[in-house]
Amino acid sequence: MPEAPLAVVSACLLGRDCRYDGRNKRMPDLEGALRAAGYEIRSVCPETDSGLGCPRPPMDLHPVPPPDGPLRALRADGTDCTPVLERWIGETVVSLRERPPALCVLKSKSPSCGVRPPRPGLFAAALAEAFPETPILDENDPLP
Ligand code: SF4
Repeated sequence: MPEAPLAVVSACLLGRDCRYDGRNKRMPDLEGALRAAGYEIRSVCPETDSGLGCPRPPMDLHPVPPPDGPLRALRADGTDCTPVLERWIGETVVSLRERPPALCVLKSKSPSCGVRPPRPGLFAAALAEAFPETPILDENDPLP
């Protein structure tokens, strides 16, 4: 039997309590819709799975040096979470190369998962670079 297409999905959208505040952003119909469309789901939370903790202080993307340096994921106290995140993102992209995703559905407005310019999240940007053919949606987009 052929392998099901893989969908990489932000875990908080599937109901995992992995947000900075220890809560989730579950989309009630998302998991069922993906499964009905034949996808196997790989649920990921870059921030919790990388070891940043949950709950955790929130972070945001800032260009370092300003105004147009590379984006860094910084907490309000200046802690730079970028190296921790980038290590996990690198390992995850390597593992996904063995089975590239057919679709990604990521949480909007996140410094890790956010899809939209001008500052897409670090994980979303890495997926877009590694898998340019793969549609990368956020939770507000209709499924293909
Ligand atoms: S948006 Fe991404 S990093 Fe943030 S809680 Fe959801 S899955 Fe984790």
